[in-house]
Amino acid sequence: MIIDTHSHLNFKAYEKDKDKVLKRTLESGIWMINVGTKFETSRSAVELAEKYEQGVYAAIGMHPIFASAEFQKIKTDPEEGEFLIKEENFEKEKYSELAKSKKVVAIGEIGLDYYYKPKTKTRLEEFKSKQKEIFQQQLDLAREFDLPVIVHCRMAHEDILKILNSQIAVTYKKVKGVVHCFTGTLDEAKQYAGLGFYIGVNGIIFKYNIDDVIREIPLDKILVETDCPYLTPPQEGKDTRNEPIFIKHVIQKIADLKGTGFEDVAGKTAENARNLFKI
Ligand SMILES: [Zn+2]
Repeated sequence: MIIDTHSHLNFKAYEKDKDKVLKRTLESGIWMINVGTKFETSRSAVELAEKYEQGVYAAIGMHPIFASAEFQKIKTDPEEGEFLIKEENFEKEKYSELAKSKKVVAIGEIGLDYYYKPKTKTRLEEFKSKQKEIFQQQLDLAREFDLPVIVHCRMAHEDILKILNSQIAVTYKKVKGVVHCFTGTLDEAKQYAGLGFYIGVNGIIFKYNIDDVIREIPLDKILVETDCPYLTPPQEGKDTRNEPIFIKHVIQKIADLKGTGFEDVAGKTAENARNLFKI
């Protein structure tokens, strides 16, 4: 069994054929968690999961680029070109309603993204504190519903680690989760693992070298994912839309780096996912 712990079949890219993609995913013995990035995509992730009895789950949350859209509206995406991010307030009650679904297994993707940032120092500080505030509110939501989190982090490991470490000081429950699409250092990976977090590995490993992280971090701390429609493994051709069945390339590369077999990586990472997300 394989679990793709981070896919976006709830996105526009699959508007026309998501049921077909889902069918071939499930028929290949792959389960998936479709992840929301704002209210609309969170709701569609839940709707999609509820259509299937087994194997399709949802994560709900507001991505940091939406959380701070008032500061940085233009985003350039290699797949979508330049686009405008619509401002959206984080309304906790609306997300709480969604979280009541049994198919919601995590709060995500949430976190910090300092890649597209304002230029002036004051605006930069405001931008960062807005993202941190919304991140904290969503960590609270995870605590309330006793759910793990799916963390998105870009150029912000220091601040994310600070926030997660500060949980130790508070009396209530520590949130666990996964740092998705990990591209940090081995030292950062070890710190996350020490906090009870998993390292999410996807097709970005064919672009960024995190071989040392994959070799050193034990398999029982690793989750596999695609982040589809993004990050297609190069073996499938660069103009191909990514989808969950292409996760096999990621699993194979981890197996090669660890000197173990494909089935071993698939099985252990699926077990990790089932433990973390209680599926
Ligand atoms: Zn994603």
